[in-house]
This record gives sequence, structure tokens and C-alpha cells, in this order.
Amino acid sequence: MPPVPGRGLGLFLRGAGVSPGIGAGPVRTLAGAVPEPPVGARHGGDAAAEKAAAAAALEAVAADLEERGERAAALGNKDGQEVLGAQALMARDPGLADGVAAKIDSGLAAARAVFEAFGTYRDMLASAGEYLAARVSDLDDIRDRTVARLMGLPIPGVPVSDTPFVLVARDLAPADTALLDPELVVAFVTEEGGPTSHTAILARTMGVPAVVALAGAMELAEGTRVLVDGAAGTVRIDPSEDEVRTARDASAARAALLRESTGPGATKDGHRVPLLANIGGPKDLDAALHHGAEGVGLYRTEFLFLDRATLPSDDEQERAYRTVLEAFPEGRVVVRTLDAGADKPLAFLPPPGEEPNPALGERGLRMARAYPDVLQAQLRALAAAASGLPARLEVMAPMVTDADEAAFFAKACRAAGIERPGIMVEVPAAALRARDLAAEVEFFSIGTNDLTQYACAADRQIGGLAPFQDPWRPAILDLVAMTAGPAADAGRGCGVCGEAAGDPALACVLVGLGVTSLSMSAPSLPLVRAALARHTLDECKRAAAAARKARTAGEAKDAARAELPLLAELGL
Ligand code: PEP
Ligand code: MG
Repeated sequence: MPPVPGRGLGLFLRGAGVSPGIGAGPVRTLAGAVPEPPVGARHGGDAAAEKAAAAAALEAVAADLEERGERAAALGNKDGQEVLGAQALMARDPGLADGVAAKIDSGLAAARAVFEAFGTYRDMLASAGEYLAARVSDLDDIRDRTVARLMGLPIPGVPVSDTPFVLVARDLAPADTALLDPELVVAFVTEEGGPTSHTAILARTMGVPAVVALAGAMELAEGTRVLVDGAAGTVRIDPSEDEVRTARDASAARAALLRESTGPGATKDGHRVPLLANIGGPKDLDAALHHGAEGVGLYRTEFLFLDRATLPSDDEQERAYRTVLEAFPEGRVVVRTLDAGADKPLAFLPPPGEEPNPALGERGLRMARAYPDVLQAQLRALAAAASGLPARLEVMAPMVTDADEAAFFAKACRAAGIERPGIMVEVPAAALRARDLAAEVEFFSIGTNDLTQYACAADRQIGGLAPFQDPWRPAILDLVAMTAGPAADAGRGCGVCGEAAGDPALACVLVGLGVTSLSMSAPSLPLVRAALARHTLDECKRAAAAARKARTAGEAKDAARAELPLLAELGL
């Protein structure tokens, strides 16, 4: 059965399990937005006490930011420490304190005075050029933390804790998680987000069990003990010690089996299927190597630059790319050019116009065509990074729609000295006309996350639409087959790098549909390797045919599993 988001019965909540594993601990909530203190709110007459409260709140915020900075540094995140240190300085700015005091003297309550004093700074920064404008969100963060303290509200941002906890949030942005210590966060639970949302991708990358699209998650009281099963998609409230132990034992048994799953990817009868890692930058290389990736199948380069106000220099790009290429001296490294826009906005590449539906707007290769200098700089840096190294560099464009776009990209790559240009197939139009596109490039990589989003007209960021974003839908399997067939006819490789590749049963089906390599978040590799190794290519083909005959995603999954009997050995 596909995961059904929504409340379960009794003490079980059910959402979509997106990162396998068991995590048990108390709930800590990522607090939401802090409301604006009421306009004109006045204090009771004791201005001195009000000023003291405001000063104490600002100092507490500064000290807390500093402490977070030290924790970030201890986790090896020096950049994070710098940002937090700069924020602490802003909180201690004497000019700001004077502004707050003057507003309190005029009768305003401390929270309102803080809100307005920050407003003056905010306007100055916002109009002071691109770099400083990007600091506005840092300032808003300090303001919200201070106002929350003064109003007795939960402090926004990732909770600080010395003991392990389950992080509960409406949704998680990459910035929220920069400071997370995977040793302390035993599971993620979010109310929003589907199986292909960035919360899900991030959880798999960090190897943290996660359940998303869980209705009612934000109503879980702070400190409630929960047991999260990231494979089943369930959250058990107040579990007994026995339940926690049983769940942990089952999870440990599977982990032991997986430790034996090593070596290159292949079916039981030796049909090779390279298993590659999806990465967001050099920081993900350790996990990729640890889980036995044979190369990189998707390097999401925009992840390097998500929090940047300006385009990184050629040198900086080249260094990052070279580090990745050096990690796989004998493997393939597939780098995707910037996929800016929609769910991955980049401050330095704003969409050229107003976009009511960003997912249907200027993104991916469309954005690269709007900013040709950015594309050229990236291709130049990639070619320079690969020169003299033995790794096989392949470069692909995101969000390609037709053969003309594919030809444009291939030409730009070759002009920069990149010999193996490819494209992502994630727009249904590209899948439907795969034959035309295969003539233009060296390889395809199917992005099932966006392919599903677009084929089912279901925004991947909306948790309530999770059932529509299910790549098991026979319509999506048809599109994969329509892509893989013409690719094979033209002698082109056709991988899958969407999250579907990391689902062990679906991975077998994809291979049966003619997919030639699978790329996924590194922690998913062992289970996929083990599932493939237990089944022959014929079994995979039979599973694929059975799934395509089904009418619904649930039926497709059941039909495929009936042809893949040894998944049960893996507890699947
Ligand atoms: C996809 O769309 O399937 C994909 C791999 O790209 P992203 O998730 O980065 O959009
Ligand atoms: Mg995509």
C-alpha cells in the first residue's frame, strides 16, 4: 500500500516513510514564525524595567547565537560559526540598543520597541546593495528570537539539546538543518513535504529516519516520547520499552544483513547496474564512499550555492568540482549544471520576471539560457577541474524539454571541452519524445521526482499531495519505459537519479524497464544493492511488466513484489 498521509488510529500516526530506520526520543519542535507584536502596544509605565527586559533579551539572544556558533564549529561547520558570530555582533550593536531604548521611552512595550527598532535597520540594509540585502534575513532572525523571548513564545530555529531528540517541524529547509548534529537528531517528522521534498532527500543523505506528510505533527506536545519508523511511515506516541526494543532489534537485524551487501551493483545473474550516489557537494563524499558508491550519478551543484548572495568565483567552483572528481578516480561523476528556481531558489539568479507558479517557470536549463554567462562559467570550471584527472566527467542539464534545448546544451558543453554531455529527463514532453533527444546527447538520467510532479500535476512541496507524487504510479513507469527504450536503441545509457532509484523494490522494477544505472542518496545504496543481488534480470523484467499492467500505484507495488519474493529476506 502506498503511504496514506493522515492520522492513524489510537496512538499511531501515519505519514509517508521516506528514510528507513528507527528513532525513539522526546519531541523537540522547530518553532514556526513569530507574530508581529501588536502595533502601538504600550508598556505599563515602568520604562526602566522595560528597557532592562529588552537589553536582557538581546544579550540572551547574542549569547545563544555565540553558543550555537561554537557547536557548529565543533561539528566542523566553520562557515556556520562565522554567520552566527556576525549575528551575535548585530544583536549587541549599541546603536540598536539606543534605538530600542528611545522607543521604550516614547511609551512602546519592549517587544514592539524591538520590532520597530529592527525595522529601521532592516530598511537601511535592504537598500544597501545586493550583499547587505541578503543579510536582512539574518537580522529578521535576531529580531524574531528577541521578540519571542520578550513575549514568552518558543524560540524559532532548531532546538538546542544535549540529549537525543526527534525533530518535529512543519517542513525543513536546508538552512534549518545546517547545525544539526546527526548524533543527536534520532529522527525527523514533518507535517509537510512529500517523498521527493528536500526534507526527505536531506534525511536520507544524513541517514536519519524520517516520516513526512504527517498530519497533526505540529500538535505533538514538546517532550512527548515517540517511536519513529522511517520505513513504515509511522509515529507511535508513548511507546513501551518493549516496543522500542523490538523495533530496534528488527532494524539492527536488517542493518547486519546490509553490511554483507558490498561490491558493484548487479542482478543475481550478473547483469551489471552501476550504483551511484546523489550528492550536494564534497561534504557528502564520505557517506558515498562509505556506502560503496561506484561513482556520482547526480551532483546537485546548486546545493553548494543555496545560501550565497553572489555567484561563486571560477576558482571556488573548480576546487569543489575537483574534490568530487578526485574521490572517484575510476568512476563516473555526473555533474548537473545549476538547477536554480522553484524549490531551489538562488539569490544570485532571480527569475527574470514575476512567477505565479515557479515550478512551471524559469528554472533549470531555462534559467541557464536566461543567464548564459553563468552556464559558461560553470562549464569552464568543470572542464578545468577534470583536466588531468582520470575520472570520467559527464555533465547534464536539468529541466530539458525538447531536442533543441538538448542540442543547445550539448553544443555549450563541447565548446567548453566537455565530451560527455547529457540531460535529465524530468519533463514529460522530453520522455514522450526521447527518440529525438537521444540523438543530441550521450546519456539520459531520469529525474523521477520532477517527472512525477509534472506528469501528475502535483507540487512536490505540498505534503497533502504525497499520494500523487508516488513514482509507483503506472503512468510514471510508462514514461520511464518510453525513455529507456529509445535510449537503448540509440546506444545511450539511461540512468535514474530521482528518489525512486533508492526504493529497493522500485529499483528492481526500473532495471526491468531498461534503466542502466541507479543513483540515490548514499544510505539507500546497501539496501538497493542487496535487493538487486537477490533477483535475476528476468525477475526484474517480470516485476516491471506486472507493475505496468496495474491500474494504481498500490496495485503496481503489490504486483511487482509478488515477482520479487526475496525482498522479504530484507524485511521489505
Ligand atoms: C528529480 O527531479 O528527480 C531530480 C533528481 O532532481 P531534483 O530532485 O534535484 O529536482
Ligand atoms: Mg529535478
